[in-house]
Amino acid sequence: MKIQLPEHVKQIIGRLQAAGYAAYAVGGCVRDTLLGKEPKDWDITTSALPGQVKALFPRTVDTGIRHGTVTVMLNRTGYEVTTYRIDGEYEDGRHPKAVTFTDSLLEDLRRRDFTVNAMAYNEESGLVDAFSGVEDLSRGVIRCVGDPRERFREDALRMLRALRFAAQLDFSIDEGTKEAVRDLSGTIARVSAERIQTELVKLLVSDRPEELRTACELGLTSVFLPEFDRMMITAQNNKHHCYSVGEHTLHTLGEIEPDRVLRLTMLFHDVAKPVCVSTDEKGQNHFHGHQEEGARMAREILRRLKFDNRTTDSVCRLIRFHDERPPLFGRTVRRLASRIGPEYMEDLVKVKRADVLGQSMYRRDDKLRYAQDMGRIFRELCSEGQCMKKSDLAVNGRDLMQMGMRPGPALGAVLDGLYEKVLEEPELNTKEKLLALAHNMQTSHI
Ligand code: ATP
Ligand code: MG
Repeated sequence: MKIQLPEHVKQIIGRLQAAGYAAYAVGGCVRDTLLGKEPKDWDITTSALPGQVKALFPRTVDTGIRHGTVTVMLNRTGYEVTTYRIDGEYEDGRHPKAVTFTDSLLEDLRRRDFTVNAMAYNEESGLVDAFSGVEDLSRGVIRCVGDPRERFREDALRMLRALRFAAQLDFSIDEGTKEAVRDLSGTIARVSAERIQTELVKLLVSDRPEELRTACELGLTSVFLPEFDRMMITAQNNKHHCYSVGEHTLHTLGEIEPDRVLRLTMLFHDVAKPVCVSTDEKGQNHFHGHQEEGARMAREILRRLKFDNRTTDSVCRLIRFHDERPPLFGRTVRRLASRIGPEYMEDLVKVKRADVLGQSMYRRDDKLRYAQDMGRIFRELCSEGQCMKKSDLAVNGRDLMQMGMRPGPALGAVLDGLYEKVLEEPELNTKEKLLALAHNMQTSHI
């Protein structure tokens, strides 16, 4: 089997070999190339020790020297070059307790998680496939290298990685590997939130985000996302819906583009339904307040999973407004945009559309048209240059001070008042009109 290695990778492998070391492209890049996909990055595994790697290349970065990884920079691209190693147990489920370097490629491949990730390649040896990775690739199977229970005991994150790769590659999971996840799912509690976050996001933005259902069935989400398990057992009993809250959520994930904020928003948009549910006299369920409570809960969950503030804020904002349904006029859409922030409106429309596509067919066309119209009206307002956030006002604090106002809360109140007026009557948003209005507001205050 022949793989076309990029020039840079050939150079790195060539230089290591010329110095007497063995070196191979390894892992994800070999897997993706064999699948006919463009690898995101090329990793290299070598018998050279980190210091020896550094001595051979003019520009390197100590990415993870203790674990044997040096990044070699060629032009502006970085290539991770890692010394063959045998991992010890993952003590805190985060870093191996101790890594031992080895001069055996086979040992290095043996410590890797799945057969499809445990192949190496260089031009001299061709493909090194000691664990039937090619066969599993062609069958579309994710299978642990060696005994799955042992591998998951070494590093519990591998259980979630199995689902993530199945979702990304559209593969199934080998039965033995799956059984081992079922038995050991509880041990994922030992894995750090950061590592879980990385895999969860990769799963969510994959082509098969609904694989999260398997994570629930195998007992993984009950550990790091128990809120999702509650969604799975909450019925909607409502004509707008044909699925449980959890199933609805899984459907909406597939109806929105694979963007991390949008997928996280869909995952948590109804997270509060299990706690906001009430049943009316006709037996229908309602979920009053689930937008606000959902935004609050999502914030808590995202913080727990160590998401950055920017992602958290965007997701929570979209959740807070996902079910707003004002009658659609210029004025109401302008108001909505000013509340959520105009920069969120396009995403809000996408969220609303995906939400509808995960519901029953009841009035589906009307609901889709509603989302579409909201987007259209918003774009009209934008093209008219309408003011939908305070910084779009034709006057600012400095203008008011030039008019003789002193800085302070009163000035802020005048700006707020002007903004309020402009939201009602967009044509007031000129400097002249606003300064006149400000003048009146001031004199009426005295
Ligand atoms: P991606 O395209 O998402 O980067 P990848 O296969 O490169 O996929 P990485 O997480 O970047 O995945 O890991 C690179 C390689 O290192 C894997 O292919 C695998 O061989 C090995 N590996 C990574 N994490 C683990 C782990 N927790 N246990 C065992 N081997 C691992
Ligand atoms: Mg990778």
